[in-house]
Amino acid sequence: MTDFTATRARFDMPEGVVYLDGNSLGPLPRGVAERVAQAITGEWGHLLITGWNRAGWMELPARVGDRVGRLIGAGPGTVTMGDTLSIKVYQALASALELRPARRVILSDTGNFPSDLYMAEGLCRTLGPDYRLHTVAPEAVAEAIDERVAVLMLTEVDYRTGRKHDMGTLIAKAHEAGALVVWDLAHSAGAIPVDVTGAEADFAVGCSYKYLNSGPGGPAFIYVAPHLADQVRPALSGWLGHEAPFAFDLDYRPAQGVERMRVGTPPILQLAALDAALDVWDEVDMHALRARSIELQESFIATVAAGCPDLTLASPREPSQRGSQVSFRHPQGYAIIQALIAEGVIGDFRAPDILRFGFTPLYLSPEDVARAAATLCDIMASGRWDQPEFHARARVT
Ligand SMILES: *Cc1c(COP(=O)(O)O)cnc(C)c1O
Repeated sequence: MTDFTATRARFDMPEGVVYLDGNSLGPLPRGVAERVAQAITGEWGHLLITGWNRAGWMELPARVGDRVGRLIGAGPGTVTMGDTLSIKVYQALASALELRPARRVILSDTGNFPSDLYMAEGLCRTLGPDYRLHTVAPEAVAEAIDERVAVLMLTEVDYRTGRKHDMGTLIAKAHEAGALVVWDLAHSAGAIPVDVTGAEADFAVGCSYKYLNSGPGGPAFIYVAPHLADQVRPALSGWLGHEAPFAFDLDYRPAQGVERMRVGTPPILQLAALDAALDVWDEVDMHALRARSIELQESFIATVAAGCPDLTLASPREPSQRGSQVSFRHPQGYAIIQALIAEGVIGDFRAPDILRFGFTPLYLSPEDVARAAATLCDIMASGRWDQPEFHARARVT
């Protein structure tokens, strides 16, 4: 069992705020500021460059990678940290394409996060005119898998609607057709139980600043299945993915296993933040977290459906087909979200008309969710959202 009152006490939430945006940027866990301060003054300040050896900075991507791995069903030594998710998508795709040299198609869906699609397009352009990204509707993915597909690249949970793909089934289908899979876990890691080993994912990638709470710009993770890790040839062949970086050889030789997916100098301060942020997960059972998330989502949907008839549910009604977020549609979604934020309930907006709410049981209580739903319904019923200041678009929505 997981004690969610105890996990909640491990976050520093501002007074009076209900935070339904941990799916976009997780809040600050207690202990992170101290750990980062220690890394700055105790390690960087005192050890200077000797910190790479004496504070274990060079091993940090692997050590933290193992801790993230535990949350996604990846064994020790199969995950490394660094760069941003967009970069990790590119690396995984490039390696997967090279492992299927007779094929030219990356298959994805139109619900995928644009950056994943942009990275795939950019890679295809670099590789030559035969390569292409093919996107179909999320429901049409299974039937679009055929022997032309080199790589199936999917994000398990749709960032807009929260719709969840059936990972095991799609991976099995792709493998049957001889394709490899790159699975994006941006909205899965720390949100729902994931088992990359059991589902036989070839590559999995994700970010740490959403449900894993590493802070803005926290490093991404990449998993490579053990049977592939020594075969893949890194497209971004940086020195820290080299077998012996400090030999300073003129020729590139990849490191053993997933270490070869490292590129350059790791972000030590952000890794220290993530390391401390992961402590809370030591006491969390992912299945208990999932049950609690569904409970919170269901109560939110029920209250909103009853009290805000103008909002249309954009997420699947069936809880098992959602990740850990609930979305609604409304043409004035942007202004409604701004009005909610002004009253201390933080969700976000995704163009063109999605109001998005993330459910994170580590720090969200049933009372928070009740308050959020009641505030939303009250804003809708009163029309308080329709004020000029709520219509002015900021750079980040
Ligand atoms: C959040 C997210 C990203 C963001 O990528 P960065 O490189 O970290 O900015 C990419 N893909 C998906 C599916 C996401 O949800």
